[in-house]
Amino acid sequence: MEPDALVSYAPLAPAPAASVDARLALAEQLLACESARGCARAVVEWLPAHAQALAAACVAREEPGARMTCLAAQGLSEAQQAALAAWSDADPTHPLADVLTQAVPRFFPKERAPLPSPGAQGLFAVPLGRAGASPVGLLLVWATTPELPAEVAWVAGHAGPFLARQATSGPLAAGGSELFRRIIDAVTDPVLLTDLEGRARLANARAEALLMAGPDASHGRRRAVHLNQRVFSAAVASSASGGQPGVSWREVPLVDPVEGLDLLFELVSTRVYEPDGRAAMVSVLRNVTDLGRATQALGESYRRLRATEREARSERHRLDRVLDSVADPIILSDPSGVTVMMNEPAERLFSLPPEGGRAAQRRVRSNHATFVSFLANVLDTGGSPRWRGHLSLVDPTSGATLPVEAVASKVLGEGGELTGIVTLFQDRGEALEKARLLERLKEVSTLLEARVQVATAELAEQNEKLRRQAIQLEQASAAKSQFLANMSHEFRTPLNAILGYTNMLLQGVSGELTAPQKRNLTRIDSNGRHLLEVINEILDITRIEAGRMPLHLSDFVIPELLQEVMAEMDPIIARSKLTVTTHLGARLPPVHSDRQKVKQVVLNLLSNALKFTHEGTVKVVAEYQPSSSMLTICVEDTGIGIAPADQEKIFEDFQQVDSSPTRAYGGTGLGLSICRRLADMLGGRVTLQSTQGQGSAFTLHFPRRPRRT
Ligand code: ADP
Repeated sequence: MEPDALVSYAPLAPAPAASVDARLALAEQLLACESARGCARAVVEWLPAHAQALAAACVAREEPGARMTCLAAQGLSEAQQAALAAWSDADPTHPLADVLTQAVPRFFPKERAPLPSPGAQGLFAVPLGRAGASPVGLLLVWATTPELPAEVAWVAGHAGPFLARQATSGPLAAGGSELFRRIIDAVTDPVLLTDLEGRARLANARAEALLMAGPDASHGRRRAVHLNQRVFSAAVASSASGGQPGVSWREVPLVDPVEGLDLLFELVSTRVYEPDGRAAMVSVLRNVTDLGRATQALGESYRRLRATEREARSERHRLDRVLDSVADPIILSDPSGVTVMMNEPAERLFSLPPEGGRAAQRRVRSNHATFVSFLANVLDTGGSPRWRGHLSLVDPTSGATLPVEAVASKVLGEGGELTGIVTLFQDRGEALEKARLLERLKEVSTLLEARVQVATAELAEQNEKLRRQAIQLEQASAAKSQFLANMSHEFRTPLNAILGYTNMLLQGVSGELTAPQKRNLTRIDSNGRHLLEVINEILDITRIEAGRMPLHLSDFVIPELLQEVMAEMDPIIARSKLTVTTHLGARLPPVHSDRQKVKQVVLNLLSNALKFTHEGTVKVVAEYQPSSSMLTICVEDTGIGIAPADQEKIFEDFQQVDSSPTRAYGGTGLGLSICRRLADMLGGRVTLQSTQGQGSAFTLHFPRRPRRT
């Protein structure tokens, strides 16, 4: 058997998720309907809400050739509804009668529609009825598209059998026996008036087809009819003998006399009394074979719908989850550009925020307009599967401009047809900001480069100046050293002459001297010697600075050198009240260095120690550190000591702790600075440890062998 639909349509596209519930609701409503009008009303109310229908109506005829009755209408005026019923299928010129006869749905474009409805593209007339039987009515739908909407086809297929069953179950009151005959013949269910044993007195056409056979009927048909009669009579008799007043129901299995198929009927019997007082039974046989199948099919379709719904829900749920997990806005559009789905970030741009005012509304509209025009470009691109564009959207809440890159990808079906468009929006703000910063960076870098060039030029100029100054200084220093050397020489010659003559006078070469003369000459001698010492020291410094004091390296031993120093200092030591001792460390090795310079440093340190120590001891300690190959000669005294603030200063030229004119100690302030220079030449240094009031320890450190010769 064919499915319970009047016409078969192309396979329906899967129902959009939103309509699954609606379909189920309509199916349940149809199952519960008890009248044709109820069914029709449910259908026409459902269509405008769920299919692309502007108006819908359901018309049916009571019997072939009769005028149409408008069972229900939606979106039509009273006059339009009246016009719907103003024709019958017996009128061959009426275009709708033709649809009913052909039993094939037809679309009437709006200019040729028998009943125009403003705004509609045209009118669909879809026959309604049970499979295999002629249609009982039409479903009229004023649609916005010329293609038969899938929902309309679905509704016609499902509601047709319901309407067929119920549209014919209420004949109009008979106006005479002919009319009565026509009426009961028009009833699609077999109807019989029988005696109490089930023998027929009156039967409609359907009942005759089932329970009666003419003399020229085939053997098979006669047998089937005979069988049916026996079953039917037994059932009626049993109902009659049941003695129950009112209506009795029972199921009776009969056979289709034409095709020999098993049929199941519901027998509804009522006891009536004829005008002559005889009891009779009115029986209506309702073929529930189809109903059973229809129920089964409906159940099946219901289950399928449920399964599809579940699948669609889980699919949708999964898709929603995937889409929502993407941080960028995504919109899924159908091939006509209508938005089907969008994720949350996209909703923030394209949906009105909960408390959005007029401004937000305007921004959302503007975003929509931008997106729609972008999609129009995408759809115009033809074969290109991907399309990119830079759009300027607006944040509906803050009104901030959002520069985005929209990437639209076309989704193609198995046959290569366009089934949807997925558009992904990526924020370009950061990229633009980066580009702006890069530009700024370039500007700053150019500026910086220019500044560096200027600074480099200035620096080069300064360097040049410094170089010139350095040369000038060098020349000045050389000139100064030369001058000092010359002057020292010029000083020393007459000074030595003065000292020589003074000495001669003191020795009485020019005769005996008086005591005052002797005293004055002694002063001249002492001051002259001091002056000579100053001049010698200045000369030493200038020679060192002028590089005129080269190293004279030789091998010597420290004990011998110290012995010499002690011998030279002996007169001064003898004059002092100090205990002066020498300590030699174990394993003092022979030394390869400038003996004269080492001696000069030690002499200087020792003479300072003797000068600044009034009582106590002065120790000269020589040691060797094999790990560093360094020798140390330390001159340690218990003298006046040096304050920490002065310990650095005293190594500079002409610096003394007490430089006042009334100072207690003589000297030039050049001794230590010469020692430092000499130690430096030896590759060593002079260090000092001193505590004021307790004493000082000056140490000469120098390598056993000079590192540079
Ligand atoms: P001068 O002894 O000729 O003044 P120096 O350069 O030899 O010059 O010494 C600089 C100063 O360092 C001295 O004037 C003195 O104040 C201080 N000084 C040097 N040696 C000692 C020492 N052993 N004890 C205390 N002060 C010292």
